[in-house]
Amino acid sequence: MGSQDCIFCKIAAGDIPCCKVYEDESVIAFLDISPLSDGHTLVIPKAHFERFDQCPPQLLADIVECTAKIASAVVSGLGCDGYNVLCNNGAAAGQEVNHVHFHVIGRNSGDAVFTQWPAKHYAEGQAEVILNRISKNL
Ligand code: 5GP
Ligand code: ZN
Repeated sequence: MGSQDCIFCKIAAGDIPCCKVYEDESVIAFLDISPLSDGHTLVIPKAHFERFDQCPPQLLADIVECTAKIASAVVSGLGCDGYNVLCNNGAAAGQEVNHVHFHVIGRNSGDAVFTQWPAKHYAEGQAEVILNRISKNL
């Protein structure tokens, strides 16, 4: 499965070069072309799926397994203090490439990579209403 206009399908097919970190039958990991920190790596399935929740379960397992391997190697290899795993889904969430991918972003204390986390509070009774709206769709 592929998409002709998809840049990540082209990378997976070897039609566009990348700095490849890892590859197996189902996934490929490569350095992000515009890194937020050294070693910022993208993990993608070779097959084209737009969003995380659209991938079949075994493929999700493969992606997550690979992402954990990459995270461990980034931390060990680059001596990071920590890392973020990020998967943007939909333009509203910042997804620019519509082929599902996990970012592995090595972090160091005080690096100011993500400076905003606009946390809020639920009003009285609001959490229960929201919970119900989610759970009836499971
Ligand atoms: P998104 O915003 O969709 O979660 O992230 C897409 C990521 O893909 C961005 O961080 C961007 O720098 C990276 N990217 C876009 N085009 C290319 C490319 O051609 N090669 C590589 N290696 N990374 C890319
Ligand atoms: Zn694709």
